[in-house]
Amino acid sequence: MKRPILIHPDPRLKKVCAAVPDLSDALRTLADDMLETMYAAPGIGLAAPQVGVLDRLIVLDCVKEEDGPARPLVMFNPEVVAASADINVYEEGCLSIPDQYAEVTRPKVVEVEWMDRNGNPQRETFDGLWATCVQHEIDHLNGKLFIDYLKPLKRQMITRKMQKLKRERGRGS
Ligand SMILES: [Zn+2]
Repeated sequence: MKRPILIHPDPRLKKVCAAVPDLSDALRTLADDMLETMYAAPGIGLAAPQVGVLDRLIVLDCVKEEDGPARPLVMFNPEVVAASADINVYEEGCLSIPDQYAEVTRPKVVEVEWMDRNGNPQRETFDGLWATCVQHEIDHLNGKLFIDYLKPLKRQMITRKMQKLKRERGRGS
């Protein structure tokens, strides 16, 4: 089931999310819903707080169509355990900040540990777009948005646009 995506600014997008102690059917359903919501948007990553749930859960799939079959990843309690000194600049966007893009600099390669959908520990090294995406999503679990990396003026400009968008959407419904 698709879930509505919160739009910035929203206090729930600024919260530090709680670790997931044990998996449950409800959490697995949430993960499935988040994947459905992400693919429908369409997007390449989604964090639980973006659908209003303050648990440490992210989903992502950065496979581009021409690269082959989908690779949905579900990560509970994801954590960056190592990051490269090499950096990468990507033009990032966010489903909670529609149609706004800006360059963000992050480590190019990161090693991430998480618990998968079956409760098994996983560890993998991500590079390129995957690395950017997983760092962007983990930031969400700490109440951090990609616009927090930008200069204040640019951030305020984007926030004002989003406030206007929310007012317009509010009127339309
Ligand atoms: Zn985002």
